[in-house]
Amino acid sequence: MYGEVVATQRLTPQLVRVVLGGPGLDEFVPGEDADQYVNCSFLADEVPYSVPFDDEAVRQLPREQRPFPRRITVRAWSAERRELTLDIAAHGEVGYAGRWASRAQVGDRLQLRGPAGSYHPHADADSYLLVGDESALPAIAACAEAVPAGRPVVVVVEVEDAAGEVALTSPGDLDLRWVHRAGRHDGLDDLLAEAVAALPRPIGTVSAFVHGEAAATRAVRRILLGAGIVDPARLSCSPYWRRGLDDEGWRAVKAAWVREVAAETFG
Ligand SMILES: Cc1cc2nc3c(=O)[nH]c(=O)nc-3n(C[C@H](O)[C@H](O)[C@H](O)COP(=O)(O)OP(=O)(O)OC[C@H]3O[C@@H](n4cnc5c(N)ncnc54)[C@H](O)[C@@H]3O)c2cc1C
Repeated sequence: MYGEVVATQRLTPQLVRVVLGGPGLDEFVPGEDADQYVNCSFLADEVPYSVPFDDEAVRQLPREQRPFPRRITVRAWSAERRELTLDIAAHGEVGYAGRWASRAQVGDRLQLRGPAGSYHPHADADSYLLVGDESALPAIAACAEAVPAGRPVVVVVEVEDAAGEVALTSPGDLDLRWVHRAGRHDGLDDLLAEAVAALPRPIGTVSAFVHGEAAATRAVRRILLGAGIVDPARLSCSPYWRRGLDDEGWRAVKAAWVREVAAETFG
């Protein structure tokens, strides 16, 4: 499956919206989860093939010519227009996904598989807590749109500075809080956790979604489970990326990290 870029928009200095359409998406079937994502194949600058390509055939090529897989959230799917919206974090001159998004032009193609997902705001929760950075902002935005009407939803998002903030909407009673990392050179892992620890304690059953940088999500998990704010069964906590590692490096150690975090229990 592949999409053809029909529009791009720089939402913030760090976040690029790419809308994909065209007949290559004819087989796309959206899932039910609010955090659904697609597995995208980003290509190095010089490769001897183009989209669409045969996944099996390119697997035989030398590593530097093979596609670089990256998971990107389905920010929106328009069933009417059959268009897929992805919001992709751009982090300077590094990253196959970020650079592709920064340079994307109408007509460019992106091969992808999916979608898959794992979280939908629990229908029976009394309130919702959605926490993350730019990489999780598309999923957080989709989750905020999927909470039941009128229920409290607290959103805490770490961005570079005020220019990194975007408008979010929700049928819920939205309390949106931004955390800025600009000017911070240490303690980055704890920024979100400190903001979450300072929140008023939610009343009742909380459904929580905490995704983004690995150490930051782990620190938030410690606060939420350590203080008994969220039941582990209603916490979706996933390390999307790891500071200092690219996705290839991160995937090599991710399973061990996830096991270590899951083993952390709180009396
Ligand atoms: C289920 C799932 C859904 C995801 N959805 C999205 C999404 O909708 N949008 C999105 O942008 N990302 C999303 N991510 C995260 C994304 O897949 C990773 O951040 C990926 O590493 C980005 O690829 P890249 O090629 O741009 O950078 P890489 O080549 O992987 O990394 C290059 C460098 O950039 C750093 N880096 C990677 N991501 C970030 C970041 N967000 N901010 C700052 N530095 C970074 C790395 O640590 C590394 O030093 C998702 C991840 C998962 C698992």
